[in-house]
Amino acid sequence: MPALTPSELEAFPALEWSDVAPRLSPALRSSLEKVLETQNGATLSLEESFALANADGDDVLGLLVAANLLRSELAGNLVTYVVNRNINFTNVCFVGCKFCAFSRGPRESDAYFLSFDQVAQKAVEAWQLGATEVCIQGGLPHGLPPFYYRDILRAVKNAAPRMHIHAFSPMEIVYGVELTGMPLADYLSMLRDNGLNTLPGTAAEILDDEVRAILSRNKLSTAQWIEVIRTAHRCGIRTTSTMMYGHTETPAHWVRQMLLLREIQQETGGFTEFVPLGFVHQNTLLFHQGLARSGPTLAEHLKVHALARLLLAGSINNIQVSWVKLNRKLSQLCLHAGANDYGGTLMEENISREAGATAGQYTSPEDFQSLILEMGRIPAERNTTYTRINLKLPVEAFTAEEALSAEFA
Ligand code: SF4
Repeated sequence: MPALTPSELEAFPALEWSDVAPRLSPALRSSLEKVLETQNGATLSLEESFALANADGDDVLGLLVAANLLRSELAGNLVTYVVNRNINFTNVCFVGCKFCAFSRGPRESDAYFLSFDQVAQKAVEAWQLGATEVCIQGGLPHGLPPFYYRDILRAVKNAAPRMHIHAFSPMEIVYGVELTGMPLADYLSMLRDNGLNTLPGTAAEILDDEVRAILSRNKLSTAQWIEVIRTAHRCGIRTTSTMMYGHTETPAHWVRQMLLLREIQQETGGFTEFVPLGFVHQNTLLFHQGLARSGPTLAEHLKVHALARLLLAGSINNIQVSWVKLNRKLSQLCLHAGANDYGGTLMEENISREAGATAGQYTSPEDFQSLILEMGRIPAERNTTYTRINLKLPVEAFTAEEALSAEFA
């Protein structure tokens, strides 16, 4: 099928399923109809899932429109967001991921390390500004005191006791285990008992060791990532799940990663959401050494979000757009292609900005609300685990059908 032009792709939100269905390849149409009917991505075979990921031409429009329809049935018309602050306590890191433009060597002039007091102060400021969550992650410096991560939690909890602490990537957890010599489950339980509420499912990139060897030879393995996540879930610590796309991977990797996440979710129920993260290539070694393409195309951004809605239906109900990696318009398009969550206000985003992203470091709650209303959807502030949702419009502004259509996993 001929590839669609960007303007043909961007026009997809105006299409209805009945407009596109007759134009689709018969096999792809029947796969999409099966998911729409069962609302369960597990009803698709591996071959059918690969075919969706490789859709081209008009079939891409079918994928996007079906995902949007499924989103409206499974997650309603709300678009949620969380008021949070990012705190990256250091940019010093020895891991050397080739896609990362944030990390520094300890002697570089712009290397920094925040004290516990500075981290705690940022959490207090965030609380005063209405944030309900701090997201704390950093580089991995050599020679960190063994109980450093526990002590950050203590400092933040003491200063802002009601703040939700979403902290430490699985890579940081593996490092903490190495530093303390504690068994993984004991280490995670200790962090939980000292205030860790949830864990970011970052450091996943592509969960395939061959791809990981290209992205970062020193990073934790696929098996280690899975072990940290499963153990966290078993310890009562819920996590997000992520995937970085648009570098060296293929659509088959997207499918395998989503199926793996679905399998873990089946077993533990511990994922709160899935967050596709588009590769920001500009300032990275991975791109400059010719090891990766220059980030995702428009079609890839849209397909990944749609595929996530379709394959994770019945498993992970919240699909988040990462507005810092996209731009505002592209975030809105992805929210029309199956996603239902805008992520966090962040207040102080550093990692994507250093890699060359230009979407900014902060989106205010008011900005989120107007971007969401512009799409004809309903803005709602949520907490980290989606258990509290606060609509940001008076209820009389919605039709009864709209107000009832929100369901959350
Ligand atoms: S992605 Fe994280 S672990 Fe990798 S180099 Fe950057 S800061 Fe270090």
